[in-house]
Order: sequence, then structure tokens, then C-alpha cells
Amino acid sequence: MDIVILLGAPGSGKGTIASRLAETNANLKHVSSGDLLRGAVAKGTAAGVEAKGYMEKGQLVPDALIAQMIKDVIAETEGDVTMLLDGFPRNVAQAEILAETGAPVRSVVLVDVPDEIIQDRIAGRRTCPKCKAGYHVRALPPKVEGICDKCGAELVVRKDDNPETVKDRLVVYHRETEPLIAFYEAKGLLRKIDGDQGPAKNAEAFLAAM
Ligand code: ADP
Ligand code: ZN
Repeated sequence: MDIVILLGAPGSGKGTIASRLAETNANLKHVSSGDLLRGAVAKGTAAGVEAKGYMEKGQLVPDALIAQMIKDVIAETEGDVTMLLDGFPRNVAQAEILAETGAPVRSVVLVDVPDEIIQDRIAGRRTCPKCKAGYHVRALPPKVEGICDKCGAELVVRKDDNPETVKDRLVVYHRETEPLIAFYEAKGLLRKIDGDQGPAKNAEAFLAAM
């Protein structure tokens, strides 16, 4: 087992890249911290109850809460698998917790997208609440409007995808997450791809870079 970390702003397309690659490569496993947290919220677990308020405000949930979920997934992942870690770590403290687990990080790929594009990307984003597939009303529309291609469920707009919360999430990204670029550059692990090439080419570029 080893880990490839996806770094990038909210709306940079990391989740789309990771889920595409995991669909077509049996040895890649997509692990999204946001999906884990939304799952916990939906189930009403203790962690979910604690996380909910932070998520709705676009703030980071406490490090220990998300770190424990990620450690659990790492512990149950064995064999010839590369984990595409999407959304964790999101600050330097989390990166240090990950390093302490001893799980080998193969590389860290920054999905680079200009800030101007992000707002529009998120405004058009639609998500399947059942299978977690992601869509965009223009860039990546489902075959039938409002319906998931993969499982037929009705698509939703995520609660935290409103313009106000998106602004807060971008502030948090620049303040908390961007320092990870220098952190991993110093370890010689950082690579970078242009995240504005369309979903198929983004995924191809990512696979080549990781
Ligand atoms: P996006 O990448 O579009 O911001 P995510 O699904 O990754 O969306 O995250 C949604 C929310 O979940 C975040 O705004 C935050 O509240 C919480 N979250 C996800 N990952 C982490 C993390 N590693 N640390 C703290 N909070 C997190
Ligand atoms: Zn679906």
C-alpha cells in the first residue's frame, strides 16, 4: 500500500480526477475526506454530529476527528493498492499526523486551477447523494438533467456549495492548505498539473504525474 495525495482548492476537480482513475484502475482506491465526513453526518455518528457545524460554515473540522477516520481507512487497506487521498491532509498539523502513521507517501500532486474559475465550477457543481458521482451543469452534465448516470438517483447541490460558504472555503484553503505545497516540495514529493484541461485530460495528466 502506498499513498498519492491530491492537493488543490475546493472545486479544483481533485475528486473527479480521483474517482475517474479509481473506476478504471483496479489497484487505485479513492479516499475522499469530505465523503467520509458527509457519510458520518448522514448516519448521525458522534463524529458526524461534531463535524456538521464546521462543514456548513466552510471551516475545517478538528484535526483529530478527521485524522482518526483516515487512520481507520489506512489500517484496513492492504496489498498492492495505491490510495488516492483526496482532501486530507488539509493543513500542516494533519500532514504531520499522516507522517507519524508511517504510511508511505509516493507523491503529492497539485491540481492547479486559477481562482477565477473556481467560483463558476462550484456554482455549477451537482453531486449524487447515493454513489457520490460528481457532475457540472455545463462542463460535465449527466445524460438526463438532474439524474445520476451511474445509479439513477436525483442529483443535489451540496449544502456548502453556496457562494458565501465557497468564499470562506477559499480563504481557509489559502491560509491552511496552501502551506502544504512548500511542506511537500521540501520533501521532494511535489508535482503539479494544469487542472483546466477538461476531465479526461486532467485525469490522464494526473496519472502521468503521480
Ligand atoms: P471541497 O474540496 O470541495 O472543499 P470536501 O468534500 O473535500 O470539499 O470538504 C468539505 C468539507 O469537509 C470541508 O469544507 C471541511 O469542513 C470538511 N473537511 C474535509 N476534509 C477535511 C480535513 N482534512 N480537515 C478538516 N476538515 C475537512
Ligand atoms: Zn449516483
